[in-house]
Amino acid sequence: MILVLLGPPGAGKGTQAALLEKERSLVKLSTGDILRAAVAAGTELGRKAGDIMERGQLVPDDLVIGLIAERLDAGSDGNGFILDGFPRTLAQAEALDRLLKERGQLLDAVVEMRVDDEALVRRITGRFSCGSCGDGYHEDFKMPKVPGVCDRCGSTEFVRRRDDNEEVVRQRLQAYHAQTEPLIAYYERQGKLKTVDGMADIKEVHQAIARALDGG
Ligand SMILES: [Zn+2]
Repeated sequence: MILVLLGPPGAGKGTQAALLEKERSLVKLSTGDILRAAVAAGTELGRKAGDIMERGQLVPDDLVIGLIAERLDAGSDGNGFILDGFPRTLAQAEALDRLLKERGQLLDAVVEMRVDDEALVRRITGRFSCGSCGDGYHEDFKMPKVPGVCDRCGSTEFVRRRDDNEEVVRQRLQAYHAQTEPLIAYYERQGKLKTVDGMADIKEVHQAIARALDGG
């Protein structure tokens, strides 16, 4: 089975991919994982990609697609692959279709984790964690029981991720919508798109994905 997971940054795609990986013996492939593995393996394409990344440039589509082809040809020990973060654009989706067709393979399904932008902004910008033990908190959902004191370790130091600010989150959401909306239409036309509510809790989202994949 070959599966694509679509969703904006912060929607919990990685978490859902990890659950599917475990339950269905699929191998999760993110562009980052593939690039790192190819660079480490020192294949020709990997060396090329490594040079480009060292210069701080974006690895071009045809190179990423070549690396994905190499990875698919190497096979998986399980039942197939979950692509996480790829394709991101219509051109990449079309290239992926061509690549699979050449190999006599088919994309089985595309799961879109649909989110409410305002709620996602709130979810991301409200989170913070203990600077000492790493325990996670949220301004709306989980404040420390004693204000300013970590429930788990008693530390009074809290930290926020630098990227968890409203401006960054909104920029990323905008980029996601601009790039991904055409993809959603593309896969809808192919009859492969399954949309689940990405704002539900982790377990519910997982169950919705499982139902979508099993044709329920
Ligand atoms: Zn703590």
